[in-house]
Amino acid sequence: MEKVKVKTPAKINLTLEVLNKRPDGYHDIKSLMQSVSLYDFLTITKQEVSKDITLSGNKSDIPYDETNLCYKSAKLFFEKINLKDHGVNINIEKRIPVAAGLAGGSTNAAGILVGLNEMYNKPLSMEDMSQLAAKIGSDVNFCLHGGTQLATSRGEQLKPISTLDFNVIIIKPKALSLSTKDIYTKYSELFFPHNAQEEFVVEGPKFQNTELIINAINENNIENIALFLSNDLEKVALGMYEQIQDIKNKLISIGCLNAIMSGSGPSVFGIYNTDIDFYEHFAGYEMFETFTIDKGVSIY
Ligand code: ATP
Repeated sequence: MEKVKVKTPAKINLTLEVLNKRPDGYHDIKSLMQSVSLYDFLTITKQEVSKDITLSGNKSDIPYDETNLCYKSAKLFFEKINLKDHGVNINIEKRIPVAAGLAGGSTNAAGILVGLNEMYNKPLSMEDMSQLAAKIGSDVNFCLHGGTQLATSRGEQLKPISTLDFNVIIIKPKALSLSTKDIYTKYSELFFPHNAQEEFVVEGPKFQNTELIINAINENNIENIALFLSNDLEKVALGMYEQIQDIKNKLISIGCLNAIMSGSGPSVFGIYNTDIDFYEHFAGYEMFETFTIDKGVSIY
């Protein structure tokens, strides 16, 4: 196959609990992750002459070099199947905002694994690809499987949950991007203030929002899904950027059942079940009217 096209959906976090800081510097989390119908589109084209992995795309705010997660993903794929001297161009048509808490880079990386696997006649199993995904980044395995998943450890361990259909509005302040690493570092300074050489666990009872939302999904109860949305990282981001609270307040005041920051932010999403004219209220923001989907990256 000379050319493969892959659709790579964004993710939101219905819950995100930061459980403890690990000796390796990462955090153990428990998060209910959900794929939504906002996509980047990748086109992978085999190169006849060049032996390099080259990148191109429609957005100037991502790197088109070896630091792009698509490049890392392609390199790992070729290493794994022991193919040297194979050149591909990867074109990234980006719609998912960058550094926005929507796993844009991770979903592209997952898309490259699936796309190259298709192009080279499926040398890797899903299990092989999951192992590569975990090496690229914490959210890449989720993006590979997609739908609704309970993610644990660094986020790479998954347990599938059934997907319920509902509308999700995503709003991002145009000029604001947050680095995942910075938000976790701030969170750690506030909530795990030890210089961790060993595991520190938050003491005391935790609200079981993740389990409550899983129950709500099983009961088809969108009101309860909205009620139990939670994100520990929001505590940090709200203190840094007033805009995030403003977006939440506005989404709720115009009829969303609830609204919360996604991942490490700054995107905020709202869940709703009535007609709402979001354009009227969010001129000047990046805005995406989406719905939940039950799969991750796919060939199209
Ligand atoms: P997450 O929700 O997984 O924490 P995010 O949505 O907050 O991720 P990304 O959009 O994945 O953040 O971007 C994070 C960083 O990765 C940016 O600084 C960006 O330059 C870099 N990056 C590398 N490759 C890509 C890519 N293909 N798409 C988007 N960002 C990329």
